[in-house]
Amino acid sequence: MVYLRCIECGKVYENEEMYTCPCGGLLEVSLDLDSIDVTFKLDGNNLRVWKYADLLPVKIKPISLNEGGTPLFRAEYLERELNIHRIYVKHEGLNPSGSFKDRGMTVGVTKAIELGKKAVACASTGNTSASLAMYAAKANLKAYVLLPAGKVALGKVAQALMHNAKVIGIKGNFDKALELVREISRQENFYLLNSVNPFRLEGQKTIAFEIVDELGYVPDRVILPVGNAGNISAIYKGFRELKTLGLIDSIPKMTGIQAKGANPIYRAFVESKKVIEPVTPETIATAIRIGNPVNARKALNAIYESNGLAEEVSDEEIISAQKILAGKEGIGVEPASAASVAGLIKLAGREIDVDETVVCITTGHLLKDPEAVIRACGSPIEVPADIESIKSVL
Ligand SMILES: *Cc1c(COP(=O)(O)O)cnc(C)c1O
Ligand SMILES: [Zn+2]
Repeated sequence: MVYLRCIECGKVYENEEMYTCPCGGLLEVSLDLDSIDVTFKLDGNNLRVWKYADLLPVKIKPISLNEGGTPLFRAEYLERELNIHRIYVKHEGLNPSGSFKDRGMTVGVTKAIELGKKAVACASTGNTSASLAMYAAKANLKAYVLLPAGKVALGKVAQALMHNAKVIGIKGNFDKALELVREISRQENFYLLNSVNPFRLEGQKTIAFEIVDELGYVPDRVILPVGNAGNISAIYKGFRELKTLGLIDSIPKMTGIQAKGANPIYRAFVESKKVIEPVTPETIATAIRIGNPVNARKALNAIYESNGLAEEVSDEEIISAQKILAGKEGIGVEPASAASVAGLIKLAGREIDVDETVVCITTGHLLKDPEAVIRACGSPIEVPADIESIKSVL
């Protein structure tokens, strides 16, 4: 049986079509772990989202594009520079649409089919829309997308358009777009696939499963960028489930990194609070340009319960980390993704010990945001087509 449980009042629902509890609390999928027969082995083989189907709450054949199974790279340059023994980067930019959102969408869109929905919808800073459009195309569902006009990276809009979503820009930020799409979805019977949807987060918890599967043990810390705060909540839930099942005996310190201009969870954390004060968001890292994260309560629980922390980084620190990842580790990521490594750099030697094993999640691919790259690196040099001119600039 699949139940939705309110994280605030604890009430349990059998209705799978709810997004929040009448009390206003967020819902999470509650699996009866005692009665589940786990057939997969954490042996490092055949990594992908649906390897963990025993713990994914759908009953029909999944709508899949081979998501998950992303590589865990050893970051040797960063290990030397920061004097931390083991740093890994899990590059979620190598998912089918170029971000971790695919893990959530394969489960969420499958659930939409299971529930008999004809259309799916989301508000998006870009990657959710690209992923939603791709999986809706595969599932033959209509897809509707609300974006903050002018604030979405070009590659992401291109994907949403080409995968045949109806893309609508609004004169407002992501938080406003989410508010609107929640209401429109209710009125039009669209299946809402933002991270307030608990089934989407079920797919994203497989990041935790894969980290343990690939590494062979539990790292001390997982660092990731935080926007709407679904992913940190999902990954923490994944570790918690493995622990409840007796497959691991510790949980990494969940470490969430926000951009300075969009930092409500960081602010709540430094004041030891469990509720956030929304902010007006601004940052070059458009994927985390969110001022009122809907999953803040889940994320703060994850941080406090795992003995983790929240940190903020400036746009300059984000760009610098993006350049280090690309130029020194060979890992191409978009700005928001680099926030995890910018946070690692900032915390090294202060909060992070030399002998920790750290996994940084890089959430989206470099090609998502070519305009940010040109701003950071400049355009290519142009020279006349002759050997001497070329040699003069080598
Ligand atoms: C969606 C996204 C994030 C933020 O994830 P949340 O679950 O909203 O915290 C970070 N980076 C990238 C590239 C994203 O697409
Ligand atoms: Zn409730």
